[in-house]
Amino acid sequence: MAEKIKHVLGLSGGKDSSALALYVKETRPDLDVEYFFTDTGYELPETNEFIDQLEDKLGYIHRLNARSMNNMEGRGEKDFAHMLKGHGNYLPSQRDRWCTVQLKLKPFERWLDGYIKDGYRIKNYVGIRADEPERVGYMTIEKPIDSIFPFREDGIVKSDIVNILQRNGLELPAYYEWRSRSGCTFCFYQRKIEWVKLLEKHPHLFEEAKAFEKGEGNNVVGEKFYWMGKGQPLEILESPDMQKRIKENHEKKLARFAKKKRRNALLTDEDGTSEFCDLDEIYDDAEGGGACVTCYK
Ligand code: SF4
Repeated sequence: MAEKIKHVLGLSGGKDSSALALYVKETRPDLDVEYFFTDTGYELPETNEFIDQLEDKLGYIHRLNARSMNNMEGRGEKDFAHMLKGHGNYLPSQRDRWCTVQLKLKPFERWLDGYIKDGYRIKNYVGIRADEPERVGYMTIEKPIDSIFPFREDGIVKSDIVNILQRNGLELPAYYEWRSRSGCTFCFYQRKIEWVKLLEKHPHLFEEAKAFEKGEGNNVVGEKFYWMGKGQPLEILESPDMQKRIKENHEKKLARFAKKKRRNALLTDEDGTSEFCDLDEIYDDAEGGGACVTCYK
């Protein structure tokens, strides 16, 4: 008997997974793909709007919700505050990324379990491009799942991504005007300039992130830990002087990067600088800055 295969493709609200979904639909029209978006409940409004636009193009997108799926297990309300308490009030960080497991991977795993119980093998389509190095931040789960990389197979690179979106009638998600990644509003992979922009664009979401820093027990012994790291509470960003310094520093990095790009333009034919799409490069970081592809791709 032929093996039963389920094709799934996760959308993070980021440009690469969105372009991948459109690309797979264009180039592999015979595949019956189930699209999913793991909504942590702490997504940017711009991300949710973009997922709705994508649904118009792709068809139904499963919304896997960390909170409702936990509720289904009868464990009671489990929003981030609840999870934080369960982790001893230690905020997740680059060294202990429990949030990705709880908010992204577990709901995905539970959703797949239904198919796996029905005897399916899963083919999971991932938006890692041909111009990216082997991915360190790619977290997998122990299930009969094969990862498929169509962009790598077909040689699709960064400069192709916007074209794929545009020929399908989409522009980049609006958050790219002020932030480099999709993912939780309070994601600790944000740079200071992005936190400042969050404060300007969505002050109530900044306040919510700030409130999570105050979890009881987050000051037991030694220095308190905050989203931006030890000794750096978000409230320091409320000072106009600090905001000015961060913006000036960002402008300097941007100018340096633009100069470098102009110089290299003699050798390559890349377009000009796209401030927040290129933020990792501007800050001399690997693409994604170490963040997990599940969250931002
Ligand atoms: S987006 Fe950031 S905070 Fe949210 S789950 Fe991913 S790593 Fe954690």
